[in-house]
Amino acid sequence: MNRRSLLSGAVVIAFARKAHSAAELVEIESFGANGKSLGLSRVEKIVKSEAEWRVQLSSLAFEVTRKDGTERAFTGPYWDNHADGIYRCVCCDTALFDSKTKYDSGTGWSSFFAPISKTNVVENADMSFGMRRVAVSCKRCDAHLGHVFTDGPKPTGLRYCINGVTLRFAGRGQA
Ligand SMILES: [Zn+2]
Repeated sequence: MNRRSLLSGAVVIAFARKAHSAAELVEIESFGANGKSLGLSRVEKIVKSEAEWRVQLSSLAFEVTRKDGTERAFTGPYWDNHADGIYRCVCCDTALFDSKTKYDSGTGWSSFFAPISKTNVVENADMSFGMRRVAVSCKRCDAHLGHVFTDGPKPTGLRYCINGVTLRFAGRGQA
């Protein structure tokens, strides 16, 4: 067997593995409990059925994260949280926001001027309800988190308007 056929055989095997496995890999930046980056890594995307998400999540968290819902202003768990720490995805625990970027927007929703890592969120045009908005979701599990607007404070000018029920807060240094 020459080198060329060896190579093409390897490609076929790699392709077959991909076709047989449902697990898609995504690049995520991991963060320790202290908020320090642990670097980039490729991890399996989290894919669950609606029934599985319903078991894991509160009904409101399910509606918001899996059905693009919105919690009512001033009712979410963190809009008035001023503690120092890290906010992770309630669905898959991916680090999403650091309290160092949180600010009082007066909207009644948790507001940040940046995600903890651009790598960990996905931003997509959202034309629902007759509005032109940009929806923000978790890259690892596709949880809908909220929207990002361009009326935020310095240094980014962005306002990540995030439903508190999509997040799990842990004080800095705590798991
Ligand atoms: Zn997630």
